[in-house]
Amino acid sequence: MAEHEHVRVAVVGSGFGGLGAAVRLRREGFTDFVVLERAGSVGGTWRDNSYPGCACDVPSHLYSFSFAPNPDWPRTFSGQEHIRAYLEHVTDVFGLRPHLRLNSEVLRMTWDSEALRWDIETSGGRLSADFVVSATGPLSDPKIPDIPGLDSFAGKVFHSARWDHDYDLRGKRVAMVGTGASAIQIVPAIQPLARKVTLFQRTPPWVMPRMDRAISGAERRLHRQLPFTTQARRGLLWGIRELQVQAFTKHPGQLGAVEQLAKRNMARAIKDPALRAKLTPDYRIGCKRILLSSTYYPALAQPNVDVVASGLSRVEGSKVVAADGTEAQVDAIVFGTGFHVTDMPIADRVVGADGRTLAEAWKGGMEALRGASAAGFPNWMTVIGPNTGLGNSSMILMIESQLNYLADFVRQLDVLGGRVALDARPAAVRDWNHRVQERMKRTVWNTGGCTSWYLDANGRNSTIWPGTTTEFRRATRRVDLAEYEVLRPAGQRSAAQDKGAVQDESTEAAV
Ligand SMILES: Cc1cc2nc3c(=O)[nH]c(=O)nc-3n(C[C@H](O)[C@H](O)[C@H](O)COP(=O)(O)OP(=O)(O)OC[C@H]3O[C@@H](n4cnc5c(N)ncnc54)[C@H](O)[C@@H]3O)c2cc1C
Repeated sequence: MAEHEHVRVAVVGSGFGGLGAAVRLRREGFTDFVVLERAGSVGGTWRDNSYPGCACDVPSHLYSFSFAPNPDWPRTFSGQEHIRAYLEHVTDVFGLRPHLRLNSEVLRMTWDSEALRWDIETSGGRLSADFVVSATGPLSDPKIPDIPGLDSFAGKVFHSARWDHDYDLRGKRVAMVGTGASAIQIVPAIQPLARKVTLFQRTPPWVMPRMDRAISGAERRLHRQLPFTTQARRGLLWGIRELQVQAFTKHPGQLGAVEQLAKRNMARAIKDPALRAKLTPDYRIGCKRILLSSTYYPALAQPNVDVVASGLSRVEGSKVVAADGTEAQVDAIVFGTGFHVTDMPIADRVVGADGRTLAEAWKGGMEALRGASAAGFPNWMTVIGPNTGLGNSSMILMIESQLNYLADFVRQLDVLGGRVALDARPAAVRDWNHRVQERMKRTVWNTGGCTSWYLDANGRNSTIWPGTTTEFRRATRRVDLAEYEVLRPAGQRSAAQDKGAVQDESTEAAV
């Protein structure tokens, strides 16, 4: 067999998760690691989503790394190009370029139970690693529904996350499919250009005004000269969101007042009662992600926009037909239909200790210990794994908590010493998930009366974290060795938990 590179850690993905992991590994003193990225540049979400109007729904001072504050954010809610530039900057400042393996798609990673390492096959060649951090993103593989007749459509078709910038939408009749976070940013951006926009809406979203504004030169100077003001701003943004969590997780009834604000937001722009009726959700606000836009409703009120309160059901030539029979002739179909979240493709490519893929192990639903480790997949952790998503705050907070867990994981391996691996005990995984699902029962995501992408094919919520970011931070501060089996090469006695590796009670009681 040909010689191949061996590294201590292989990180897969170069979005916030993968780059954050790389920074953290360097800070922990590791230099023997690579970042495998299938694309030709870093950035993840913020590289792939370049659709018109693409921007963050969380204020920039919170949607950025705590260890890399940016005093120069131009707007309170930054656009895609600024966030992408920020990630490129992070890559340079923290010296990550030499670790990057771009155009290296991971095709398969297989656990070698004898050598205690991962064999990794990529589009750029083979390598092996003692430890894998899978940061392939929950929203990185676009999902286009299976629509009869779509193959024979003569016009242009693309997904919001794969925008075709060479296609000129001016004067075109466009079918926009979906009303999620991307679609509501796209519609106001293309409505002034297109001849006609037909919006296919299965379920209307709740939409709140977006308090976006330019950050003044004086504010930026202040942040540059007095860095603690950037931290204070971040702290305030975080604290406000942290206080809101109980309403989502324990007292969804309290969200009724927010519904009134959202209805007023709609009424200000939508004067036609029939259109208002179509756009008014029939589920509790927060059950699906609350969307932020001050331009969506005004765009829908324009004469060149039609809202079809029904999903797209088939395509016949250049005609699109909704489930309720509404028809429209179109030149282009844009899918804002989300991503493979609970059925992420990477799970088919990870083969664990017993020869099963992660997708097979997760047939009944995704489950991981503390959002990171799956039983039977030793020395492997995922960033933004099962039940780590947030409904109201910045995912960067969750990613950074997981990086603490990663740092302790590799530290524990060093303490144990020699060739060693940690495999999550099935009972620990079950127990963690049982507690998460018990807490989930009261949340707005499970009780709010909607179907959302937070739920998997079995109707189980395997995506959202049912608590505060502080609770998750506490739960992921340390790796609790009692939750793992210590593996040694065959013939060697397992050093088990007896080598003084650190246990922490804070991880015990967190959920
Ligand atoms: C349009 C949009 C808006 C969003 N807005 C917000 C927001 O306002 N607030 C918020 O908190 N979150 C938001 N999110 C969620 C966002 O995805 C996360 O906040 C975060 O960026 C995820 O980072 P990540 O590194 O985990 O994943 P990603 O950024 O998706 O990066 C994953 C990387 O892995 C690579 N990859 C995947 N598979 C492979 C493979 N097999 N081999 C090699 N490389 C691979 C991908 O190419 C990609 O570069 C948004 C998402 C989208 C799509």
